Amino acid sequence: MSSPPSVTVTRFAPSPSGNLHVGGARTALFCFAFAKGRHGRFVLRIEDTDQKRSSDAASLGFLKDLEWLGLRWDEGPVFEAPDGSSIGGGDHGPYFQSQRLEIYDAAITRLLEEGKAYEAFDTAEELDAARAAARAAGRPFRYDGAAALAMSDSDRAAARAGGKPGVVRFRSEGRAVTIRDEILGEATLPAGEVDDFVIRKADGFPTYHFAVVVDDESMGVTHVLRAQEHFNNTAKHLLLQEALGYRIPVYAHLPIIFNPDGSKMSKRDKDRALREAVVARGLEAPPNGRDGLPLCDQATFERWRGDKTVQLPGEVCSAIAEVLGVELPEINVEDFRRSGYLPEVLVNFLALNGWSPGNDLEKFDLAFLCERFSLERVVKTPAKFDRAKLLAFNLDALQAMDGETFLARLRAHGARYHPEFVARIGEANFAILAAASHPRSKTLDEVFRGNRFLVEPDDGIAWERTKAVEKALFKGEPTGLELLAAAKPELEAVAADDWSASSLEARLTAFCEAREVGNIGRIAQPLRIAVSGGTVSPPIFDTLAMLGRASTLARVDRCLASLSAAAS
Ligand code: GLU
Repeated sequence: MSSPPSVTVTRFAPSPSGNLHVGGARTALFCFAFAKGRHGRFVLRIEDTDQKRSSDAASLGFLKDLEWLGLRWDEGPVFEAPDGSSIGGGDHGPYFQSQRLEIYDAAITRLLEEGKAYEAFDTAEELDAARAAARAAGRPFRYDGAAALAMSDSDRAAARAGGKPGVVRFRSEGRAVTIRDEILGEATLPAGEVDDFVIRKADGFPTYHFAVVVDDESMGVTHVLRAQEHFNNTAKHLLLQEALGYRIPVYAHLPIIFNPDGSKMSKRDKDRALREAVVARGLEAPPNGRDGLPLCDQATFERWRGDKTVQLPGEVCSAIAEVLGVELPEINVEDFRRSGYLPEVLVNFLALNGWSPGNDLEKFDLAFLCERFSLERVVKTPAKFDRAKLLAFNLDALQAMDGETFLARLRAHGARYHPEFVARIGEANFAILAAASHPRSKTLDEVFRGNRFLVEPDDGIAWERTKAVEKALFKGEPTGLELLAAAKPELEAVAADDWSASSLEARLTAFCEAREVGNIGRIAQPLRIAVSGGTVSPPIFDTLAMLGRASTLARVDRCLASLSAAAS
């Protein structure tokens, strides 16, 4: 069943609760690069033995995120990629642990028969009491198997028949265990540290420790690369491997990723930022989304507001943040995708969180990483996630693109997150928007965020009253607003089928010359404010072309009516 040992096999084994966060993505990336660089296999396995915390939706999210990053698994859950190709499958499935119970049971039965494991029927109260006693005595709790081991077969049969919840525990015999790690070196857990831990829970599911060991063996995994928080767990895994007569894979525990301030990067960072914004605005009800409906129900919103341990679903969080105009720190892969980072940039940047190719080389692609990745260059100490650097990388990558590629990437991003743009302005105008925005763009998303006025209803434009607006509209002789009123008939004179950036430019240039306005900017800025509400937009004639004749005129009218009244 297992592959010949000469083939390198790594696996990424997420538990499908929540989303794939940057730390998990970095683990997957290193597993992928390590296997690929050695012509090996990269296996994806979904560790869904915790039934309460796992969900199919979360599993699917992991598959999508990995595919988006370009980390296609050679073996694992079958997944149809957006390009129509199929990923996954393989000879060592199923790749969802919840579908492998028979495999685990067979191994557990073997351990029971060999006296290397035993059933235990302690109640939760009994275990709690033992824990409390250990605490009171100032020593760490270690399960004492004496009573369970002393049970006779008939005692066990009676306990089972009486409906007592039984677990299976591994008989560790309190042995010392030495872990050898490719990154962290060697560490020995002293005798008595590993107690008789549970390997099958009362619900019949194996524990993480047991399933991971059985699967790493049966899937032929040769190298286990995973987060440092699992380092101590390895002791249990080594004991199980020995008891079951399995190979011992190479272990490498990867450094944690921290925020630059030294705190651990977690989804709570996002939640905290959203709470601050909601409290600052005294928001007591969920805001409405683009469809005019509340973004979540009132009861959920109140429960979240009242209890810091409650979290809103990721997409609800993002949607509320968007409406409030606050930017949340990205934590999950999906957050970075939504914010308009490119997957190849994220991959490049994540690789630098804990690894470097040397020679100050920082920009590289996945193929380079696969070729060069080695465990020797993985650091032991926590990696700092430098957002400014990520943004700079993204800017560079976007600026290095040709216009056609930028348009294609922007269109794909828009189709996923902002379909209202193409729907409203059409393909041709979308291409204008892409070309006009490309030179300044640091992310794909800022094109949409910065140009929301294009898709707002004409009567939804609200005019900022900043200094810049005041100056452009109310200062000078004539004022910007007066010029706008004078230019309006010029705009009206351009027919709908002639409504293009070049016609508009010709017309308004002539207008400026005739009126000796001098600088086209004198009319461009009032026009920009009239149609967008603010002083920032793509070049003015492109902007008017994208908006179209009817919207442009409607907005100019409304602006004149509302601001002339305000001025007088
Ligand atoms: N399912 C575990 C987790 O998500 C992975 C454990 C492992 O890689 O061994 O943390």
